[in-house]
Amino acid sequence: MLGDEFIEIASSAVEEAGEPSYRVDQLRRWLYERTPQSFKDMEGLPLSLREHLDKIFVLHPLDHDLEQVSEDGTRKFLWKQGREGGRIESVLIPDGDRTTYCISTQSGCPVKCTFCATGYGGFSGNLSAGEIIDQVVQIRSLSRQAPTNLVFMGMGEPLLNFDDLLRSLSILTDPRQLGIGARRITVSTVGIPERIRQLSQAFPQVKLALSIHAADPALRDELVPLNL
Ligand code: SF4
Repeated sequence: MLGDEFIEIASSAVEEAGEPSYRVDQLRRWLYERTPQSFKDMEGLPLSLREHLDKIFVLHPLDHDLEQVSEDGTRKFLWKQGREGGRIESVLIPDGDRTTYCISTQSGCPVKCTFCATGYGGFSGNLSAGEIIDQVVQIRSLSRQAPTNLVFMGMGEPLLNFDDLLRSLSILTDPRQLGIGARRITVSTVGIPERIRQLSQAFPQVKLALSIHAADPALRDELVPLNL
């Protein structure tokens, strides 16, 4: 949920449970600063409110499935979409005092670049903004390493899931929610010119990584069959 939308929906849930409005801020802090595994873990909130929230919201749309750790400390997380069962990958890359999360925007990828294993694996669908954000909050909770940088460079072409990319960027950068500086976020793309223009207008401080792959247009079309 976006910042204002979150306040509105959380306020109505808190009111339905008969709790005072200051519970909304307690709930916000639990969700975005502490990342519990379930509503039941939100100690300090009344049990009746936790049970009410558990009935009406899904806290984590992704199930943590597997984790692999490399010798250099890089951690690869595999998630399962509760709803449809698609598989999604994210990676945590430690580098001195930098911790970069590499997150996915799609399950598989429809572009099918000839050199890319994700493209070969087929395409199961776009991730919702909630599923994009859940990668960040669950990695932070599992690793206890907050991100200093975030790259949209996992599975999928972010600009082909544009609405949910924009929603997730709003939640990531909103100081009331995850509060990650826009300059610390990079969106990686094989290049969709109109969407690049729209992204730069909506989030001028977010960085862009454009993969060219070949200077010859015919060869590029072969390698990156976007058909634009
Ligand atoms: S757009 Fe990216 S994720 Fe998709 S097939 Fe090409 S390189 Fe792989």
